[in-house]
Amino acid sequence: MPINKIQFQPGLSLPDFFARFGTEAQCEAALEKTRWPNGFVCPECGGEKHSLVHRDGEKLWQCSACRKQTSLTAGTIFESTRLPLRLWFLGIYHLSQPKNNVSALELKRLLGVNYKAAWRMKHKLMQVMDEREAGRVLGERVEVDDAYLGGVHSGIVGRGAKGKVPFVIAVQTTEDEWRPWYVRLDPLPGFTKKALVQWAQEALAPDALLVSDGLACFVAAGELVAEHERVVVGTRKSSDLESFHWVNTLLGNIKSSIQGTYHGFKFDKYAARYLGELQYRFNRRFDLPAMIPRLLRACALTTARPEKWLRSAEAWG
Ligand SMILES: [Zn+2]
Repeated sequence: MPINKIQFQPGLSLPDFFARFGTEAQCEAALEKTRWPNGFVCPECGGEKHSLVHRDGEKLWQCSACRKQTSLTAGTIFESTRLPLRLWFLGIYHLSQPKNNVSALELKRLLGVNYKAAWRMKHKLMQVMDEREAGRVLGERVEVDDAYLGGVHSGIVGRGAKGKVPFVIAVQTTEDEWRPWYVRLDPLPGFTKKALVQWAQEALAPDALLVSDGLACFVAAGELVAEHERVVVGTRKSSDLESFHWVNTLLGNIKSSIQGTYHGFKFDKYAARYLGELQYRFNRRFDLPAMIPRLLRACALTTARPEKWLRSAEAWG
């Protein structure tokens, strides 16, 4: 799909959203359907026979085989939440439909919840997106470059700057017209041969064509794929070269998105999650309305991530 068609595609409007997910009952029904599309399955023993019990106003599915009681949210990213599901759904809407990203602070205002609750929701949803994208493998032609984020002035800065989080940006394009398909954004402990080999094993299909500049650590990564084109940059910056058009375009978009959305966040600590969110949104840009049910399904499949766990994250964890 050409870029202009992506920009002009209809998303799900707010009135349509409220018509479908405006009440708690609608949201519960949607979550139940996406979590158990063929009916209840016991998370403990896999049993399907069950009875419904109500305790303290909560609906529980009790397995007839092992007697375990399961709530709709237990074992999902929504576990132990004190917020109604309709607010979670509204959060999913705001994190997936608008062109611009939404910070925890803005989510607080949009949902009318306190900042800590908004922070937890934002980070849990970013975590879901990051985990969902972890297995993405890029093929065809892959432009790759080193990039850096964070520090006092958030945004992209040059190679070697101190206090910044290094990350790999890789864009899969078609081999003939170089149209962009998918991106991977991965924080690294550093641009070493070892880190790049490990990255390439996870991120690149064996038959890919890798396009990089002359940075030495990309050589070892290039040996793991069918072909490696090293574009010798010389005195020109790689940003001037057509071979890195999409890497540079996306870095520009990421920079404006981060600067326009966030003010002073802990990029060094939560880089993987912020980059995972950007990657998830970019890779699903072809079908905005579908992003809501897909993200909901990912939420149902992602295990509980309590606040303590969220706060102990490593930049490249
Ligand atoms: Zn069971």
